[in-house]
Amino acid sequence: MAVLIEKKMELSTPIQFTKGVGPKLADVLKKKGIETVEDALYYLPRKYEDRRDIKTISKLEVGKTETFIGKIIAMKVCSYKKNRRGIFEMALGDESGTITAKWFIYNYGYFKNRFKKGQKIILSGEIKSYRFQREIHHPDVEIIKDTSDSINFNRIVPIYSETEGLHQKTIRKIMKNVVDKHSCLLISPIPSFIRKRQNLLELSEAIKRVHFPKQDTDFTDIISGRYPAYRTIIFDELFFLELGLAVLKKGLTVEKGVAFKITDNIKERIASSLPFNLTKAQERVVAEIEEDMKRPFPMNRLIQGDVGSGKTIVALISALIAVENGYQVCIMAPTEILAEQHFLSIRHLTKKLKMKTALLTGNIKKARKDEVFKAIKDCDIDIVIGTHAVIQESVEFNRLGLGVIDEQHRFGVIQRATLIRKGYNPDILVMTATPIPRTLALTVYGDLDISIIDELPPGRRPVVTKLYHEKDRKKVYRIVQKEVEKGRQVYIVCPLVEESEKLDLKDAIQMAEHIKRDIFPDFRVGLIHGRMNSDEKEKIMLLFKDKRIDILVSTTVIEVGIDVPNATVMVIEHAERFGLSQLHQLRGRVGRGEDISLCLLLAKYSKSDGAKRRLNIMESTTDGFKISEEDLAIRGPGDFIGIRQSGFPDFRVANIVRDKEVLIEARKEAFSIVESDPNLTDPSNRYLKKVLQERWKGRLELATVG
Ligand code: ADP
Ligand code: MG
Repeated sequence: MAVLIEKKMELSTPIQFTKGVGPKLADVLKKKGIETVEDALYYLPRKYEDRRDIKTISKLEVGKTETFIGKIIAMKVCSYKKNRRGIFEMALGDESGTITAKWFIYNYGYFKNRFKKGQKIILSGEIKSYRFQREIHHPDVEIIKDTSDSINFNRIVPIYSETEGLHQKTIRKIMKNVVDKHSCLLISPIPSFIRKRQNLLELSEAIKRVHFPKQDTDFTDIISGRYPAYRTIIFDELFFLELGLAVLKKGLTVEKGVAFKITDNIKERIASSLPFNLTKAQERVVAEIEEDMKRPFPMNRLIQGDVGSGKTIVALISALIAVENGYQVCIMAPTEILAEQHFLSIRHLTKKLKMKTALLTGNIKKARKDEVFKAIKDCDIDIVIGTHAVIQESVEFNRLGLGVIDEQHRFGVIQRATLIRKGYNPDILVMTATPIPRTLALTVYGDLDISIIDELPPGRRPVVTKLYHEKDRKKVYRIVQKEVEKGRQVYIVCPLVEESEKLDLKDAIQMAEHIKRDIFPDFRVGLIHGRMNSDEKEKIMLLFKDKRIDILVSTTVIEVGIDVPNATVMVIEHAERFGLSQLHQLRGRVGRGEDISLCLLLAKYSKSDGAKRRLNIMESTTDGFKISEEDLAIRGPGDFIGIRQSGFPDFRVANIVRDKEVLIEARKEAFSIVESDPNLTDPSNRYLKKVLQERWKGRLELATVG
């Protein structure tokens, strides 16, 4: 164990103490995220050049990516009619022939200072053909001194992402030093039987090979992504992620939990309080939950269902089961307004059953809060509904039996754990409206069982979405006018501008003023935003529900959960500023009744703009799964549904979308280890456990630390 700690410490040695790195270079490396030896080891090449067998210029083939050496014969900026700024051109030659290198975007000063006629350089890139001449555009270039040097020549050479003051040769030299000296410090105690089965190398060997591939490596293998060294590093990251999730999940299911009784009597009471028949999908999910609740182990289940699929009622049914069994329930929502809305509808639905409910949010006055705290402690409240105020320290439950977390993507693993600690292993139900692709679900919710509501309540019609350019704003107003005249209600949503609440507020307020005064003086216009206190918000929402407001101007506070079936039109201002999943959430606020609903996206965009692509997706589908797949493809998994806030270890290399296959394998292996040794107490798993805790940085609670 001591060895492990020692190695870990050596890995965190500042990069500045490496040979050849002074304070100045250390600053430059920092810009690239390299501060320690370990950072450097994981700073992987962005591509490679095969410099084992360098072709002469005459042998270069059009259409292929080639690496070759040439002497600079001439350099100049050539201007053309079409291209006023000119193209920087370099004529290169060797004893066999000549070729032209071209840069369409360039920094003249840089070229002038760096290159000279007569100099030898090595270039790499795709060979093209233009008017029967071969040329190469924006090649990677390095100045050559000595082709016998063994780091930069006669091997497969790594190409790193560069920055000012950091040239390939410099960084390659640093990396060679670091890799030779320190890669042995990396240990990954993945058992050898798994390594064999999965064709993995030792982690230290893999890092070495990724930076400086072996002499006999097949070049096509390296660039195809099938390279075993690369796969080893990815597997390693994903394995420890999944191992942590496996421990979390197993840890919860082996603990003793509440075994709820579900009698016919209870079922009848619940059924009598429901305002409608459940859909088939809701029935199936309720059955899955009931099975979990009956078992003497804690439930740990996720309900995934698109916006409007009816998750609330499912959660309410499980809450009623818990209360009928004499337990308390805590329901946590991500925003005040959503918590209030849940509170109002749950209070309404449970009135007949004589259940005691309370709302707990940050906005509630201290005196009232203290009252609620006391009532929760004395078991005078059955169902508490609130924001994360419900998991703050001063909240003590008497008999918490079930915790429900709505819209999970706003919360992380840590909040979930805090909620669990409020009771004695209560059942946990998590609800999310983000229909994430399966692989992502395996990670983000890898420690939960998943139920899916894949059906909308009857009579729903898909929302019709139309994109309007800002210059057609009048058309949008005409549609709004017609709809309001038919008795319908409208949301106008203004975006959050650069995360600044102030601007956000100003936009919505000004918009409301403008609409009221200049556009629709005859309609009743309301305003709702995040800075209002909960009384004000509730008042406005109630007015809107009662049809005493025609047009509600809002910020994104209505993004989640608001439910007004008569609101059939949503106008989204500056739609180009929203992400896909947010647009989908917003749109979910309409289309809740039986009439056809409209979503009008008002946007400024140019043809080339990525925004246009997003907005076209919104126009073409209302399927949340499709939208989230597209979102994932556009944004990459990093930003997606807050993986960053979720409390998981960071990935340096792995990408759960690209590396789906590896993820599934890593998950299988990790879960099978935990299946046979839930707390990793077996002596053979000692190192595994230590490294696991290291990677999760204490965010993982293991029963025994040894
Ligand atoms: P979400 O899954 O987005 O949270 P909600 O639970 O808010 O959806 O439900 C959306 C709307 O559909 C609500 O008005 C709710 O009352 C209604 N609803 C839910 N289930 C049914 C059903 N089985 N039949 C009819 N209406 C339903
Ligand atoms: Mg909801």
